[in-house]
Amino acid sequence: MKLILLGAPGAGKGTQAELLAQRLNIPTISTGNILREAIKAGTEVGLKAKAYTDSGQLVPDEVIIGIVSERLAQDDCAGGFILDGVPRTIPQAEALEAAGIGLDWVVSIEIADEIIEQRMTGRRVCSSCGSSYHIQANPPKTQGVCDVCGGELVIRKDDAPETVKNRLEVYHSQTEPLKDFYEKLGNLVKVDGNQPIEACCEAILTAIGAHQ
Ligand code: ADP
Ligand code: ZN
Repeated sequence: MKLILLGAPGAGKGTQAELLAQRLNIPTISTGNILREAIKAGTEVGLKAKAYTDSGQLVPDEVIIGIVSERLAQDDCAGGFILDGVPRTIPQAEALEAAGIGLDWVVSIEIADEIIEQRMTGRRVCSSCGSSYHIQANPPKTQGVCDVCGGELVIRKDDAPETVKNRLEVYHSQTEPLKDFYEKLGNLVKVDGNQPIEACCEAILTAIGAHQ
């Protein structure tokens, strides 16, 4: 099962990717998490990426394409994978095609900007494994502590209200055109993102015919 999750920042891609990875037993490749780790570790890629992510801009296509092709070449991706947050632009989608990376489904998680702006103020992410929480919709068992790994939960720098507005603009201008791109290829499905987390997951599994 090769899957792409598309959607605005805050639509719930990371949340759904974690659930789907467990249900489908395939790894998630989150370029956002990979970049945040690289920034924290101060690697070459991280240094390049930091200025872009801090201001809500997209990291250049060639950096992303490099990260993804490297990750997809690892053994655990042989039986399928979930791409969370990539492709973000038409050139990235074309690069995946050119690399012969076939896809079964592209799931677009649909949600209004106003709801996203409300959601983002409550988002908390694990500083060590990248798991995503919400102080109301999806709180951790212990406040400030990751259920998965015990790491510290933090507010993402790019979740500041002004940066969220930028990111939504970038999404509409650069990423949303991917819906047409994949609709033409025939593997786009749309799911309502404005519903509880479990219900959204069920809707995705139904849309991709993966209900066991
Ligand atoms: P993305 O990866 O698309 O940027 P996240 O998965 O990080 O989005 O979700 C954004 C925020 O919204 C997080 O705080 C998450 O816990 C919360 N969230 C995700 N899905 C839902 C949902 N269905 N209902 C309410 N809040 C949600
Ligand atoms: Zn964690």
